[in-house]
Amino acid sequence: MNVYDSERMADLLRPHGYRAVEAAENADLIILNTCHIREKAAEKVYSELGRLKQLKEAGNAAGRNVKIVVAGCVAQAEGAEIKSRAPQVDMVFGPQSYHHLPEYLARSSRLLDEAVETEFDVEEKFDSLDNAIAPRTVTGPAAYVTIQEGCDKFCTFCVVPYTRGAEVSRTADEIVNEVRLLSQQGVREITLLGQNVNAWMGPAPRGETWKLGDLCRHLALIDGIDRIRFTTSHPRDMDQGLIDAFADEKKLMPYLHLPVQSGSDKVLKAMNRGHTAAEYLDIINAVRKARPDIAISGDFIVGFPDESDADFEQTLKLVEEIEYASAYSFKYSRRPGTPGAGMPKQVAETQKDSRLARLQAVLEAQKTRFNQSQIGQTLPILFEKTGRHDGQLIGRTPYLQSVHAKAPESMIGSIELVYIKDATPNALSGVLQKDSEAVA
Ligand code: SAH
Ligand code: SF4
Repeated sequence: MNVYDSERMADLLRPHGYRAVEAAENADLIILNTCHIREKAAEKVYSELGRLKQLKEAGNAAGRNVKIVVAGCVAQAEGAEIKSRAPQVDMVFGPQSYHHLPEYLARSSRLLDEAVETEFDVEEKFDSLDNAIAPRTVTGPAAYVTIQEGCDKFCTFCVVPYTRGAEVSRTADEIVNEVRLLSQQGVREITLLGQNVNAWMGPAPRGETWKLGDLCRHLALIDGIDRIRFTTSHPRDMDQGLIDAFADEKKLMPYLHLPVQSGSDKVLKAMNRGHTAAEYLDIINAVRKARPDIAISGDFIVGFPDESDADFEQTLKLVEEIEYASAYSFKYSRRPGTPGAGMPKQVAETQKDSRLARLQAVLEAQKTRFNQSQIGQTLPILFEKTGRHDGQLIGRTPYLQSVHAKAPESMIGSIELVYIKDATPNALSGVLQKDSEAVA
């Protein structure tokens, strides 16, 4: 979502004469778009600001007027603190108010307290991002589209409801228009984004209410769009309509990222996730019934307060049962202002380290197995960009794995059949089917 937001900030500034440069050294305006989800991500901001202070001083000494802006969720959560810890920062913008950027930059003199903008005006933001005001520039055949923002679920570990605000869906009309414009610029794959993307709902043209499954089916009708993905889903919002779409909407890619966080019902309850491990497993089974080849991905947190060895074993057990194609796993990070931060029985860092290492070893083995299972298959690959080696392109399988193959640059943006020859934990490699037939 931050990648998408950063692209949109560039789109907003372009009509005002700004253009992107390759290196911060050459920039007159530097925007740090920040993440507050874990402490490590938030702390990075301050170390980066130290480096940028020097760039700003050097630029100003050379007669330029360098401005530094901090945007995103750290800005939202720590606006005033940023201004006092890092006076080199000119402006601070929360994730729901960055559409005011051009207006603020146009003002020559500002009062300090005006320079922290953390209001939640999500609908106004969506309007300001309308294509007529900030035309989207496309960088390749795959693009993100935000369809939903914010969250009302208040998991006890998570800052999102505080930094991104309440759940808001963009209208189906706006989304369809944006996707249509993207397809006209050569985009063939879209990834619909939202903190709880499958909670999306919106009024449809005939007055009915569409859910995410309906939206996907309608986006699939847009000429030129061949692949649809969405992330991140919440187990509580996996309705039958969406599961059915996996069965019969062939443009919906066979990949589902469905975080579970823990396999222990006690921990899930303390996290306020609103479901049990068995319910999660039922959803995965229903999705697999609809689309047997679907790749399942997830998020995990180890070391949530009061997580015992036995609780952690439950997580390992669930992972063994599911067999993930990919996964993200994290040590619990105490976020200020969330209920989890104040809970008793916080787990020791060393304990978190060893649990994370064990979990990641299992997940890594599963990912490797999944990648290796593609060897010998011929898969449709959407080529997105050139690779590191001459004559090589990088693309993705329907299951979101990266694939390297020798192919001409003219194939960027096209979907080609590739015979998979090799797999590592992180990528596949293969040859164009035409070439493999030629060799045979
Ligand atoms: N809405 C999604 C997740 C959004 S946050 C969901 O509910 O599933 C992305 C991931 O960051 C979460 O799934 C979780 O695994 C991780 N995360 C969030 N807060 C965290 C924290 N305080 N410590 C460690 N990991 C965290
Ligand atoms: Fe955070 Fe996701 Fe829970 Fe919302 S549902 S509070 S975004 S983890």
